Amino acid sequence: MSERTVLRSGSRVGILGGGQLGRMLSLAASRLGMKTHIFCPDPESPAFEVTPHKTVAAYNDEAALEAFAKAVDVVTYEFENVPVETAAVIARHAPVRPGPKALEFSQDRLAEKRFLKRAGVAVAPYKPVMVRGDLYAALLEIGYPAILKTTRLGYDGKGQRTIRVREEAEKALAEIGGVQLVLEKFIPFEKEISVIVVRGADGQSVTYDPAENVHTDHILKTSTLPAKIVPATARRASEMARAVADALDYVGAMGVEFFVVRDGDDPQLMVNEIAPRVHNSGHWTEAVCVTDQFENHIRAICGWPLGDPVRLADVVMENLIGEEVAAIAVRSTRGVQPHHYGKGEIRAGRKMGHINIVGLPKSETA
Ligand code: AMP
Repeated sequence: MSERTVLRSGSRVGILGGGQLGRMLSLAASRLGMKTHIFCPDPESPAFEVTPHKTVAAYNDEAALEAFAKAVDVVTYEFENVPVETAAVIARHAPVRPGPKALEFSQDRLAEKRFLKRAGVAVAPYKPVMVRGDLYAALLEIGYPAILKTTRLGYDGKGQRTIRVREEAEKALAEIGGVQLVLEKFIPFEKEISVIVVRGADGQSVTYDPAENVHTDHILKTSTLPAKIVPATARRASEMARAVADALDYVGAMGVEFFVVRDGDDPQLMVNEIAPRVHNSGHWTEAVCVTDQFENHIRAICGWPLGDPVRLADVVMENLIGEEVAAIAVRSTRGVQPHHYGKGEIRAGRKMGHINIVGLPKSETA
């Protein structure tokens, strides 16, 4: 499949990962007439509910990966921790989109920060920490408070500790040390926003309006549109997201999370994290955009021209976490679009669904 190939409806899209994002991607692909095949080790995966084609196998099961790759025309993924070897086995038989560079950088916070700096994008000041001595040297340079993070496998606030005073350093190290770490300056941000950028196989890209995000217990709780930022900040965020996607020669949807350090005449934005996939803070696009992030991701990886990301109304996306999902029926009244992920087991802290609360026709940022 070359960059110019356009997959026809009826083609087969393989998706690594069977969570809610895989499920939503599969639904979007079906709307374009694609057939989807989900690969996931967990037999109870919610994405298996929406397509008959599935493989239940480990991500290091080479024979299963090979058979999967041969059964589809293109492969994508719903999570960034796809082992690099898994992607390499698949790439021998089918194109993997987004490509390996995006996986490499998003799996390792240190590699990600170095890449972002090279791409000309600001990040919080940081220092690598491997051993105890590195931490004290880094604290001297970065100051307090600071945040110590594992470089790999951290999400929803897992694998990070805030160090407010010197005495807290030892405990933080004992709790998450023993692996490669990075110390980051604590950024007293005004707010957190994110931009979903989608880049097509032809290098054309679109961005969605920035969402203003609020986290509770390190888990995204709401994304609100419009974000309360000045137009210059919104424009800058969109430019930075595009610059990141271009630097990766990226194909597909990507979530770019920012800290807004100062809003106004001289907007200061720092990228906190990139996610090489459709993103929770883009679920609102389902309800109020002509083409949502899921459809545009599928369009990109299939070589289609991208759809229109225009936002038609104001909206708040609220995640339903744990038991909150039980109220989905009574909460989805007029103007509210529900999305239940169909997960069998309700657990505290688990994302079970979301609702999009649609407001007035679109108003401008700030
Ligand atoms: P992360 O897992 O890196 O996305 O961090 C999760 C959340 O922790 C972010 O969305 C922020 O709310 C907070 N956080 C992470 N890094 C920093 C930082 N350097 N300064 C201030 N807050 C941070």
